[in-house]
Amino acid sequence: MDLLGPDASFPTSYFDKVWTDEYILSGSQIIHRPHQNNGHPSLQQSYMNGRLFFAATETAVEFSGYMEGAVIAAKRMSEKLI
Ligand SMILES: Cc1cc2nc3c(=O)[nH]c(=O)nc-3n(C[C@H](O)[C@H](O)[C@H](O)COP(=O)(O)OP(=O)(O)OC[C@H]3O[C@@H](n4cnc5c(N)ncnc54)[C@H](O)[C@@H]3O)c2cc1C
Repeated sequence: MDLLGPDASFPTSYFDKVWTDEYILSGSQIIHRPHQNNGHPSLQQSYMNGRLFFAATETAVEFSGYMEGAVIAAKRMSEKLI
């Protein structure tokens, strides 16, 4: 209410979007489950002759997808680069 003012306390309408409905899923899209392929060996490698690395939480082999995984991935990458 501080940001939007007192009128924000009295909504006049509500819209909900189901992102997995037929419109979004049409065609042959592949929907990955959360955390699928996290820590995959291909995320540990470097590419472009050692000039491209992946270092986000998704690359961590432990606790990937979480803050702990982000720290583990960052430590691994800093050790690799230094
Ligand atoms: C709603 C929600 C709730 C969560 N709750 C928890 C929880 O309770 N506990 C927990 O452990 N984890 C939780 N997580 C997961 C946790 O937030 C993430 O695992 C963690 O933040 C990932 O850190 P990261 O450094 O790998 O990536 P990010 O935090 O995503 O950092 C990536 C950064 O790169 C920047 N970036 C992107 N593209 C570019 C570009 N081209 N150039 C420059 N910068 C770029 C982005 O702006 C971002 O700042 C939650 C996540 C979400 C979305």
